[in-house]
Amino acid sequence: MSMVPEPGILAAFEAAKGFMPADEGLALYAAAAEAGRLGLPLLEIGTYCGRSTILLADAARTAGVTALTVDHHRGSEEQQPGWDYHDPETVAPELGLMDTLPIFRRTLHRAGLEDHVVALVGRSPRIAALWAAPLALVFIDGGHTDEHATADYEGWAPHVAEGGLLVIHDVFPDPVDEFTGQAPHRIHQRALASGAFTDVSATGSLRVLRRTGAGI
Ligand code: SAH
Ligand code: MG
Repeated sequence: MSMVPEPGILAAFEAAKGFMPADEGLALYAAAAEAGRLGLPLLEIGTYCGRSTILLADAARTAGVTALTVDHHRGSEEQQPGWDYHDPETVAPELGLMDTLPIFRRTLHRAGLEDHVVALVGRSPRIAALWAAPLALVFIDGGHTDEHATADYEGWAPHVAEGGLLVIHDVFPDPVDEFTGQAPHRIHQRALASGAFTDVSATGSLRVLRRTGAGI
């Protein structure tokens, strides 16, 4: 099984609107391809317009599993009008609200990956509260406040199967480098301190950990 996406998938990823640099995308793909061997689904928190979802979807397709992606599609705090990461194209004019779901659907369709993805539209903690199935990989890339990052960790990390991977984006251990706060760094530290996860790799702000213990 290839740990690198085919050129067409990489091109679709690079063309998609979103927030993941190529080197981190390759690290995410490799983690997803490896975790997929467990034969369990891969789950992302933070779909946005589907940039990283393309990679999880292609890794899921290759492994014969399903990629799940969670988002309310109304954007994070820093993506709202007037804030640094706002993109006016993500606003539905008739609502005056962000709605990234149609953009995500088009992105995934154009990449030919629709059949490999189930989109879960809603707030992450509400979906996590209903969840029971073990997961091969959980990728946390949702809200960057402590409230959101902590809820994502507490809601989803327990569902990572033994030997599966927890991936966290936007981890900035040095406050000088941070651009959206250090909540992801704090959940990374918490995952390590729990004894349930062991560091596997770091690429840019992307951290990959393996579930090696029980209690979280
Ligand atoms: N993974 C994407 C970027 C995600 S941006 C990429 O590769 O480009 C973060 C996303 O998290 C936003 O779309 C926002 O709507 C979503 N989000 C933030 N808090 C959330 C929450 N509590 N529940 C569900 N989605 C949330
Ligand atoms: Mg991110």
